[in-house]
Amino acid sequence: MNLASKLADERRLRLAAERLLEQKKAELFAANRKLGLHARKLSHEIVETRAEVQTIRSENEKVKSDLTVAHQKVEIAERRLWHSIETIHDGFAFFDSDSRMIAANKAYLAVFDGLEEVGPGVSYMQILQFLTEEGIVDIGDTRPTEWREMMLTRWHQPAPEPIVMRLWSGEYIKLIDQRGHGGDVVTLALNISDTVRYEKELKRERRRAEEAARAKAAFLANMSHEIRTPMNGVVGMAELLKDTTLDDEQQLYVDTIKNSGEALLVIINDILDYSKIEADKLVLRPEPFDLERTIHEIVMLLQPAARDKGIDIAVDFDLFLPTGFVGDRGRIRQVLTNLMGNAVKFTLRGHVLIRVVGVQKEDSAETQLHVTIEDTGIGIAADKVGHIFGEFNQVEDERNRQFEGTGLGLAISKKLIELMGGRIWVDSEEGKGSSFGFRIALDAADAPRQRPHSLPAVMRRALVVDDLEINRIILAKQLETLGLTPVCCSSGAEALEQLGNGIDLVLTDHNMPEMDGLELTAEIRRRGFDLPIMLLSSSTAFAERDPAIGQVQALLQKPLPRAELFARLEEIAAGLAALHDEDQAAAAVPVEKRAMRVLAAEDNKTNQLVFRKMVKALDIDLQFATNGIEAIELYQSYDPDLIFMDISMPKMDGKEATAEIRALECDSGRHVPIVALTAHAMDSDRDGILAAGLDHYLTKPLRKAEIYAMIGENCPDTARPVIRDEDAAQSA
Ligand code: ADP
Repeated sequence: MNLASKLADERRLRLAAERLLEQKKAELFAANRKLGLHARKLSHEIVETRAEVQTIRSENEKVKSDLTVAHQKVEIAERRLWHSIETIHDGFAFFDSDSRMIAANKAYLAVFDGLEEVGPGVSYMQILQFLTEEGIVDIGDTRPTEWREMMLTRWHQPAPEPIVMRLWSGEYIKLIDQRGHGGDVVTLALNISDTVRYEKELKRERRRAEEAARAKAAFLANMSHEIRTPMNGVVGMAELLKDTTLDDEQQLYVDTIKNSGEALLVIINDILDYSKIEADKLVLRPEPFDLERTIHEIVMLLQPAARDKGIDIAVDFDLFLPTGFVGDRGRIRQVLTNLMGNAVKFTLRGHVLIRVVGVQKEDSAETQLHVTIEDTGIGIAADKVGHIFGEFNQVEDERNRQFEGTGLGLAISKKLIELMGGRIWVDSEEGKGSSFGFRIALDAADAPRQRPHSLPAVMRRALVVDDLEINRIILAKQLETLGLTPVCCSSGAEALEQLGNGIDLVLTDHNMPEMDGLELTAEIRRRGFDLPIMLLSSSTAFAERDPAIGQVQALLQKPLPRAELFARLEEIAAGLAALHDEDQAAAAVPVEKRAMRVLAAEDNKTNQLVFRKMVKALDIDLQFATNGIEAIELYQSYDPDLIFMDISMPKMDGKEATAEIRALECDSGRHVPIVALTAHAMDSDRDGILAAGLDHYLTKPLRKAEIYAMIGENCPDTARPVIRDEDAAQSA
């Protein structure tokens, strides 16, 4: 190889080396630049991170100081809580889910009397062990293991029932344990010793009060019996004495004895009832009874007093209502007697109206009865009305002072009505009158009464004559239900104008101003009308004295039960129809009836005398038995329609005699009504008597009206009507 080519090669090589160097330089430069950029970015990042670290560090500081404050607060709260827990006198402890004590207050630990083992960490089972082994708790006859088991089972329940335990010291602790989230249990041990002691004291006091109430009831029963027995003699004899010939002064004395005796009996009964209701001893005795008849019986008793004052008593008994209901007849009668008696007592002129309406519940026998007693009396001042249902509350004012009473009647009535689930109220305006009302729900005793049959066609238009509008309205309603057309007049003169206008019958009140009922009758006859006339009067006593009475077809005592009105109208209509049919009229032969037979078993001669005299005016046949054995003999030989049976009699008492009679009746299938006569007035006596098979119950002193009612109600169809002396019936 020549030198030139060697040089050329060398140059080529050098040029190549130089290019490589250039290239490497450029690469190095680029790498350097990149590195520089990276280094700048890094240092930037370092600066940023440093700033961040600084922020975090200062935040950390803040959190730390907040935490310290929070810690302090928690400590204070815990200290306060614990301080409170320590302050309360009741025990407090809490346990973890393994039933180990976490903490307890001093009151809790005090029960263990310094036992060091009882403290945080102790298990519930160990606590139970200490309680029994150290005799801290009084477990009675239960075995300690049993008791602990019982307590442990209770402890493990999700919501244990509170339990009361007695400590050896006689103190009572009520344990209330509550399980929280995570199984922790909080225990409260309340010291209820005072409450338990108080409860025991209360129980003792209640027992004592009940014993006292029993003693009081027994005393009252005894007292009522003891007072009633001699009062029977006093009132009964005074009543008999009244019927003998007396001069005016003597009559006054006798009246005073009788009235005072009866007033005393009312007071005794009121006090007896009131104390019975107060002691929750009064039990209602529902039985089927006739409400309308009950009201009329009370009217009959009040009629003499009302008549003396010239007050009319009217009864408006909803025509579409049944009259038979199931209820405590005696108690309903008592309420009605009180309200109706007050109405008559506090009314000097005008009228008293008893209105009964009712709504029958669909698909049930229950009827909502609404009874009101309205009067046109002295009324009650607005500021007194609110108090009159309270005890011993009488309106104290000039006008009221003239009326007697205990001031217990309305309080008793209110309690009785409430006992029956009802409500009682009063509306009154001083000087105008009062309206007392009550509402009770009673079951109807029988199916709703059929509407009365209409009367024969011979009777269509009836003239109703009464000066009192309320009486005209009631009578007109009653006649309409019978298919009659009533024509109402308020005086005799008006009535006379209507005669001849197709009138078939006259119903007239007796006591009217200007022309009374009998004068009207006489005038009707004088004018030649022979249509039937029915005279209605609150007293039928005048009938005997007035020959004009022969001109009327019927004399009716008002107010009269609608059934009786219907019956009398039917009689008259039948008579008229019969007159139209001469054959029938000729065939009508009256049947001679016998007298009703009444047996009275009574050992006491005075009482026999009282009884005999009381029924003197009745058309009955009366026989006496002086003991139970005689009563049974007479029952068989005399075949009485009704027996009055004294309960306490020698040889055989009234209950035994009744039981014998009832046994004899098993063969014959008949049932003679037996009325108990007794001086006992308590419910318990009544139970025994009715259980012995007696049907009714009358307490002594006997009342003529009650005896008349019993005899009247039980008079059989085969016997003559018992009332022959209207005057006697009136004075009953
Ligand atoms: P008593 O009639 O025995 O005094 P009550 O409890 O029956 O007791 O009545 C309380 C009082 O209510 C009566 O004294 C009377 O002042 C008043 N009172 C009751 N009913 C009426 C009435 N119909 N009209 C006016 N005042 C009446």
